Amino acid sequence: MKKAIIVGGGLAGGLTAIYLAKRGYEVHVVEKRGDPLQDLSSYVDVVSSRAIGVSMTVRGIKSVLAAGIPRAELEACGEPIVAMAFSVGGQHRMRPLKPLEDFRPLSLNRAAFQKLLNKYANLAGVRYYFEHKCLDVDLDGKSVLIQGRDGQPQRLQGDMIVGADGAHSAVRQAMQSGLRRFEFQQTFFRHGYKTLVLPDAQALGYRKDTLYFFGMDSGGLFAGRAATIPDGSVSIAVCLPYSGSPSLTTTDEPTMRAFFDRYFGGLPQDARDEMLRQFLAKPSNDLINVRSSTFHYKGNVLLLGDAAHATAPFLGQGMNMALEDARTFIELLDRHQGDQDKAFPEFTQLRKVQADAMQDMARANYDVLSCSNPVFFMRARYTRYMHSKFPGLYPPDMAEKLYFTSEPYDRLQQIQRKQNVWYKIGRVN
Ligand SMILES: Cc1cc2nc3c(=O)[nH]c(=O)nc-3n(C[C@H](O)[C@H](O)[C@H](O)COP(=O)(O)OP(=O)(O)OC[C@H]3O[C@@H](n4cnc5c(N)ncnc54)[C@H](O)[C@@H]3O)c2cc1C
Repeated sequence: MKKAIIVGGGLAGGLTAIYLAKRGYEVHVVEKRGDPLQDLSSYVDVVSSRAIGVSMTVRGIKSVLAAGIPRAELEACGEPIVAMAFSVGGQHRMRPLKPLEDFRPLSLNRAAFQKLLNKYANLAGVRYYFEHKCLDVDLDGKSVLIQGRDGQPQRLQGDMIVGADGAHSAVRQAMQSGLRRFEFQQTFFRHGYKTLVLPDAQALGYRKDTLYFFGMDSGGLFAGRAATIPDGSVSIAVCLPYSGSPSLTTTDEPTMRAFFDRYFGGLPQDARDEMLRQFLAKPSNDLINVRSSTFHYKGNVLLLGDAAHATAPFLGQGMNMALEDARTFIELLDRHQGDQDKAFPEFTQLRKVQADAMQDMARANYDVLSCSNPVFFMRARYTRYMHSKFPGLYPPDMAEKLYFTSEPYDRLQQIQRKQNVWYKIGRVN
């Protein structure tokens, strides 16, 4: 029986563990946090409420279902999304989303989804080392050095090492120092964010089935995204620059009050007061972008998810791509009958181009979300109209394809480029 060591039991690691265990691998997962099925406290960031809600699009859903997790249980972790709402001048402009296949995207409670993955990993016989941190990786020896709360180092030996340990991956760090010509670029987006949480979304007029965007009327100052989460509250991520006024470092109450009054004016005064209070009290979070020249080392070590290609969340695809990585990886292993020397290089070849396209689109999308563009809504309508009239000639709406299909990111990027050409011909901008 082949033994797989997975570093990081988050979303990508959890799904990969299930896939491998169901194929007969002996799977060991090293996770620095605790067991979410026993105690969720290490999964809920009470200070910064980091990414408590995530949207799962069709590619993520299909990847989860392909691991044998029942659809009903996945759907119970969130709410189906039927529309997007763009706030302009305090008013929401609604854009309904029409599914292209049988699936709707989900607005997920991240902790509930994590528990679901752990439940199925346990059922598949995965062995977890909770509260254990990976300290180092021997790339050629296919082993990891881990340490638990007792401080005793321990070495785990396997037939493959999967690095699914997120943006600050220890496995990737080992590749950086141990692999010749490994190129790596870490950048921080020019804006960071704070997540503000308001209870009783319904009373505030937020629908569970809608994703809300703010900042399009801010001339590039900020972007915000809100989604309700199953406990009935709404989480609002506000992205702002690090300096200037207003910014993430602003402590001047009148300045921030004016900001919330201007861009969240549709909310009642007491909700805006609460946003102001939280904003001034909470620390900011950075948005990291990671690019690595390769995602594998020989047939020994593989990186997936944020460990390979962490990205700023402006396209809402980091988790979706991480889950699709897990699926692509297992499909390659299946196709090559478990031959890692073939599957690992092919994984880099297939996924690197997708990761680069996704990261480029995410960055470009921030400009759309934060910059006043009076033709944005006209563009979207124009695209749908033209595609319905000339489906063979005019490209479909990229956003619909992104949410409702699992079409590769590089193809979506081509659609976007074609659309931009058509916009110019049609003089929409
Ligand atoms: C504000 C925000 C909003 C987002 N919204 C969306 C969205 O709507 N849709 C979407 O698709 N994506 C979204 N993302 C991105 C998404 O959260 C990530 O892409 C996703 O979590 C990546 O999953 P992962 O399993 O690769 O990494 P992670 O979820 O980071 O999991 C890594 C795991 O490794 C563990 N670990 C780390 N280091 C070690 C170590 N040394 N030893 C042992 N264990 C370790 C960690 O504890 C963690 O459990 C958002 C991100 C942010 C910041």
